[in-house]
Amino acid sequence: MEEVGFLGLGIMGKAMAINLLRHGFKVTVWNRTLSKCNELVELGASIAETPAAVVKKCNSTFAMLSDPAAALSVVFGKDGVLEEICKGKSYIDMSTVDAETSSRISEGIASKGGHFLEAPVSGSKKPAEDGQLVILAAGDKGLYEEALPAFDVMGKKSFFLGQVGNGAKMKLVVNMIMGSMMNAFSEGLSLADKSGLNPQTLLDVLDLGAIANPMFKMKGPSMIESNYPPAFPLKHQQKDMRLALALGDENALSMPVAAAANEAFKKGRSMGLGDADFSAVHEVSKDSSSKN
Ligand code: NAP
Repeated sequence: MEEVGFLGLGIMGKAMAINLLRHGFKVTVWNRTLSKCNELVELGASIAETPAAVVKKCNSTFAMLSDPAAALSVVFGKDGVLEEICKGKSYIDMSTVDAETSSRISEGIASKGGHFLEAPVSGSKKPAEDGQLVILAAGDKGLYEEALPAFDVMGKKSFFLGQVGNGAKMKLVVNMIMGSMMNAFSEGLSLADKSGLNPQTLLDVLDLGAIANPMFKMKGPSMIESNYPPAFPLKHQQKDMRLALALGDENALSMPVAAAANEAFKKGRSMGLGDADFSAVHEVSKDSSSKN
């Protein structure tokens, strides 16, 4: 797997494709907004005009797309992956989607004789840039083993979780926890501020105790400054809460904390914060406290 395709050069895909290039992989890239490929071409990537053209050229193609609709359209749409996938070729979708979307893609690829692996990732922009992602793979075990050299470049640890859907579910559970934590953190920062405490002191106190974590440490200082440069866009976090809640529905599991967090992220989107970092949900807690 030395010559690979890469579809989707957003925040994550760009960093992951750059790491592949830096570690000697020959990479052919495609992005819906083609101009975003230019930076990769300068670093040595080839460009193809459609997903089908990437798959035609490469035996293995990775994808990192925004959501289920994007993941499905890149595979099943015009000039999509399905037009060129065939026996001997493989497709590895690293986007965060629900298990049903992943299964539909898996069935589509299998119907043409191709191999499929889902491999969503835990970790954000910086871990993607540093090759420190955690890869949550499921599907074709042989393909997982073939893809390990590429995963080792993009990530610090890979898990193989069994049948298609398990990677998607694991990723949704992780991000549901993260989204709920971010809301509790935002409300705490707002409550500290509103009740006359110094939020910076709250960060110092949190960092010394049992609930210290890299997310609070990394996001806290910029949240206090109302600064939300997008590492993980809020619209994607809300998508993940929505998909995790649907998984809860399927399993008749009551998840009131996650449901409340989803509402806060929806409110954030309605406030025009969808493209800001998901920590911008802090503006939602500030907004509700300012009305009292
Ligand atoms: P992003 O910066 O918003 O990039 C999204 C990518 O999807 C872009 O390449 C975009 O193309 C493409 N896209 C969107 N709709 C499309 C469509 N209908 N057809 C074809 N391409 C389409 O998102 P990201 O942060 O890189 O995230 C990508 C995936 O990784 C998401 O599933 C996200 O949940 C997941 N993830 C993100 C993070 C993170 O911290 N950012 C961490 C772990 C997992 P254009 O450039 O043309 O818009």
